[in-house]
Amino acid sequence: MRVNLLSTPENPPPEGAPSRSAVMRLVAWWFAVALWKRVLGGFVLGLAVGVFAPNAAAWLEPLGDLFIRGIKLLIVPLVLATLVSGVISLGDIRRMGSLGGWTILVYLCTTLVALLIGVVFGRVFSPGAGLALPADAEAAPPPRDISLVDRFVEMIPTNPFAAMTEGDMLQVIVFALLLGAGILMAAAKGESLARGFASFAEVMLQVTRLVMELAPFGVAALIAVAVAEHGPATIGTLLKLVLVYYAACLAHVVLTYGVIIKALRLKLRRFYRGMIDAQAVAFSTTSSSATLPVTITCVQENLGVGRSTSSFVLPLGATMNMDGTGVYMGIVAAFAAQVAGIHLSAGDYVTLILTATLASIGAAGVPGGSLVMVSTVLLSVGLPLEVFVLLASVDRVIDMARTATNITGDAVAAVFVARRQGDLDEEVYNRLARA
Ligand code: ASP
Repeated sequence: MRVNLLSTPENPPPEGAPSRSAVMRLVAWWFAVALWKRVLGGFVLGLAVGVFAPNAAAWLEPLGDLFIRGIKLLIVPLVLATLVSGVISLGDIRRMGSLGGWTILVYLCTTLVALLIGVVFGRVFSPGAGLALPADAEAAPPPRDISLVDRFVEMIPTNPFAAMTEGDMLQVIVFALLLGAGILMAAAKGESLARGFASFAEVMLQVTRLVMELAPFGVAALIAVAVAEHGPATIGTLLKLVLVYYAACLAHVVLTYGVIIKALRLKLRRFYRGMIDAQAVAFSTTSSSATLPVTITCVQENLGVGRSTSSFVLPLGATMNMDGTGVYMGIVAAFAAQVAGIHLSAGDYVTLILTATLASIGAAGVPGGSLVMVSTVLLSVGLPLEVFVLLASVDRVIDMARTATNITGDAVAAVFVARRQGDLDEEVYNRLARA
């Protein structure tokens, strides 16, 4: 028997009012639909309101503000928790030796190139040109005119707690890296803090999930306002962003990885053929972590990378090495600057590249893992967070290419390190082409 908790025999529900179970069913249905579909639904609804009822759009604005405030709330604790536990996942600093050294070097170099490709594509194709934020979007602080040397010096916080309260992300990131390294160096004595941070990171991921439940509403509101003010230009702009992003990922996968594989004197086509299965899984699941078993299988069985290398490089890569995310951060920065009409100086780009590299390390290998990190990058150079909501509306489509690029980058690192360590079976690598 169903019990209606809101009504009693003396106090029956009013005629025609939806019964409690109907409301419950609606709520259950809402949560059963995947979040990205609800966000897409919010996007479509926002478009409809913006086009057909532009006057109503202003009423929705507080919903957008609510979502942005929620995102801001996450940034500092999320970055701190995920980065510290990311560093801890490296294991013992001293035991890592050359395998770890080479792996990290390849990760960093490819991520830097990915970011540069993103920035170049973002500047050359200007996906954000022609769209402006609502006039009352939060004004960004004026860019600071300080020298590059000062920028590097200022990366070190004099007071990490002040860095956190002021939201100086680069300083928070540097502190997180130092803290993670310190915990590793303290070995057994640091274990309880290591466990604490692992649990903190897990909790923050859950808090992120809660805040992201606001995304369908926030996206609907901001798209409605943007379309009401700028008309269909918004849709064209987002479409252009997606296309430019896919082109940039392709350029990174073909050019950067192509050069590396060729430099190792290996056949490029065989590399791509060997990775197709993992790329397809990454594309459809949008999670590097979920794809990890397939990535490992492809890299071991199709590319001939030995077990010891692949079982170190790939799990680490799934959480730390995200080239597709790097490409995205680069494009987003250029896109946000165009939409907000802000000129980024060379110094801003340096800050951006540093923050984005570290933010891509901190991002989790889960669907939309880097979405919140994007806000860190925007904040680091004073770009407005309103752009973030526009990005969230098309994030799923972008995440597909992002994740496929991420795991391809991990495989490149595995092949590179295996080749250097003499752990690559060329016969297996070459066999694939004849199969
Ligand atoms: N979904 C991506 C991954 O799992 C992370 C991201 O959102 O960039 O690799």
